[in-house]
Amino acid sequence: MKAILVVNCGSSSLKFALYALSGDDVLEKRASGLVEGIGTAQGRFKAKGSLGEAETVLENPSHLSGFGALKSWLEGAGVRDDEILGVGHRVVQGGAVFSESVVLDDAKIDQVDELAAMAPLHNHAHALGMREAKKAWPDAVQAAVFDTAFHQTMPPKAYRFAVPSELYEKHALRKYGFHGTSHRYVSARTAEILGRPVESIRMVTAHLGNGCSCCAILGGKCVDTTMGLTPLDGLMMGTRSGATDPSVFDYLERKLGWSASKTVQVLNKESGLLGISGLSQDMRTLVAARAEGHEGAKLAIEMFEYRLAKTIASLTIPLGGLDALVFAGGIGENSYVVRGEAVRMLAPLGLELDEEANAKAVGGAEGKISVGDSPVALVVPTDEELLIAKDTLALARGRK
Ligand code: ADP
Repeated sequence: MKAILVVNCGSSSLKFALYALSGDDVLEKRASGLVEGIGTAQGRFKAKGSLGEAETVLENPSHLSGFGALKSWLEGAGVRDDEILGVGHRVVQGGAVFSESVVLDDAKIDQVDELAAMAPLHNHAHALGMREAKKAWPDAVQAAVFDTAFHQTMPPKAYRFAVPSELYEKHALRKYGFHGTSHRYVSARTAEILGRPVESIRMVTAHLGNGCSCCAILGGKCVDTTMGLTPLDGLMMGTRSGATDPSVFDYLERKLGWSASKTVQVLNKESGLLGISGLSQDMRTLVAARAEGHEGAKLAIEMFEYRLAKTIASLTIPLGGLDALVFAGGIGENSYVVRGEAVRMLAPLGLELDEEANAKAVGGAEGKISVGDSPVALVVPTDEELLIAKDTLALARGRK
């Protein structure tokens, strides 16, 4: 069985998915799992899927021993090392260096590592994982697929911050945008569903998971997006504030003696739906609590919907109008109450919610949730792993 392995190496965990290749280019997910507890005294290897299930304890797990556990499990499931054509690495920050998926060599892995200054929690672990994956599967093509790459087509008026130019020129301070793999996947799929070339559709895609971002896509290319230098900017999220007045840093330092890193920690981990509700970051919990009369949950959901609708409307300006609004991610794919309210608020753009279709499009279903043909609102379940596998296969075959 020829296969592509997709990996997402974090500092404390390593997630993977294995796609079997059938025919020329059909990829089918056969297994997924993770190694958790990397860097601690005891971790776990877990795998499930049609290749089989496993759960084992790992002493002092590292990325290397995690890959070792994965290799031996794959071998036991009948997948030989030399059948892995490529290993596709998900990378959070590609900076302005990477505008598309690439085959990794030592120099490119060093570049990924250097970009850790802009994604300290992620890029270093990605680079570490790449070096270990090269040792584990020396014959496979190692590829990198970047969350930022799809957004590299933004024009300067969209990606620059209105701060002294020197901060951009010397220190690369600008908007990069994230979730690019998801926005790319759902925009291409939307064009297939609508039966129109992606080039002809003025589209806003809303990826609403624990992290949330919107993207304006014109002619199949990103022209603006809501996340910024880091994934903290833009929409309100599970635990992230989204856009706030940058003066909160100075204010909280003077008022509470908080350092910049304390404030950024609060904005990242204790804000958003969790911070406003005082209850949970999970939309399911909040919708249920609101039904019981929880005031914090009610306000958190209202703010989420309001900020989402306002942001979507603003992204129609670079598009010069709107043909399709697309919802993806855990909230976008399931929370019909929340996306339904956002669509209702967008009536001034000509959108009209189809209540019945909206209530039905949950749990992985895709389809239209609005009345009429233009503009349309749709739900399109995202599949970032599949796109990483496809890019990796194309690179392994020297197609890209
Ligand atoms: P991540 O960004 O970590 O991949 P997901 O895309 O899984 O996260 O999205 C997580 C969010 O999706 C949570 O807020 C969760 O409550 C929400 N969600 C998942 N399933 C449902 C559902 N059935 N109804 C409402 N919200 C849901």
